[in-house]
Amino acid sequence: MSEARDVIIIGSGPSGLTAAVYTARANLHPLAIEGVGAGGQLMLTTDVENFPGFPDGILGPELMMKMREQAARFGTEFVTADVDRVDFSSRPFGVWVGGTEYRARSVIISTGASARMLGLESEQALLGHGVSTCATCDGFFFREKPLAIVGGGDSAIEEAVFLTKFATKVTIVHRREELRASKIMQDRAFANDKIDFRWNSVVEDIVGDGRVEKLVLRDTVTGELSDLAVEGLFVAIGHDPNTNLFKGQLDLDDEGYIVTEPDSTRTSVEGVFAAGDVQDHTYRQAITAAGSGCMAAIEAERWLAHAEHVAGV
Ligand code: NAP
Repeated sequence: MSEARDVIIIGSGPSGLTAAVYTARANLHPLAIEGVGAGGQLMLTTDVENFPGFPDGILGPELMMKMREQAARFGTEFVTADVDRVDFSSRPFGVWVGGTEYRARSVIISTGASARMLGLESEQALLGHGVSTCATCDGFFFREKPLAIVGGGDSAIEEAVFLTKFATKVTIVHRREELRASKIMQDRAFANDKIDFRWNSVVEDIVGDGRVEKLVLRDTVTGELSDLAVEGLFVAIGHDPNTNLFKGQLDLDDEGYIVTEPDSTRTSVEGVFAAGDVQDHTYRQAITAAGSGCMAAIEAERWLAHAEHVAGV
């Protein structure tokens, strides 16, 4: 076991790296356990056009590389591995990576969220070969091809509209006969000639050998099966927060997000803070994640400065 540190940051998307920049500049010598998939969801995007400071846009992976460099410049130490286990029931808190145990007086959790999948075997087999969870990353590869997108929320509609820039046609497959997406997004989709809908339908199977050739759809009302010939399927059915590690240790809400106090990143355990998509159902933007990473760093710093009352800190 190593000596207890002031702060360990778990995760390395915009929230984790912003927390790293701030805690490093506050001389808290943060250790960022960045995960095997370091950089978070922006590593899966191409152009980021809405992150202030980059008037010409910036590639997602490049933005994350710059954030990491900035965090390193002020002395953040990185471990490129996944955390296996945490213990927030004793202090200093325990964080395990492989066989190594780290201890810290405070922890900032920025483990983000992951795209939900349909759970089909064929989906796994064809992921990256016609099945994608990221229209902005992969849309370009489907020029002049028919595509389908599954989901009925804002993401599905936004991605469907985006994909019409490339595809010959985009079919939105939705399990109900009413979209969940906001009215303005619905209007955009209904007004787009290249977008079709398959209502009350779910994807039963994805057929293709090394590439997507067609979908088998099941009508949720009649049970009838039908084929839809497409060359790509985009899955946009929401995200799940990456909180398995924290079950039983922190309060999570019904959807598994870490509960934080209003206008704060404080969790149910004093000294543990959560920032970014792991606690945010609503905004899920790189800039809001970065903003809450900054909040977590400032809250951790202030908490550490006044934590004499907590035994073991
Ligand atoms: P979401 O709002 O949770 O929508 C998920 C959609 O996928 C729903 O239509 C849901 O169907 C469907 N779905 C879920 N599981 C499914 C399954 N196993 N099989 C088939 N369909 C399934 O998620 P989201 O669209 O990613 O949006 C998340 C949040 O980000 C929302 O608050 C959204 O407003 C926001 N957002 C905003 C914008 C924007 O304003 N530009 C863009 C993107 C996202 P049901 O409707 O039947 O539940």
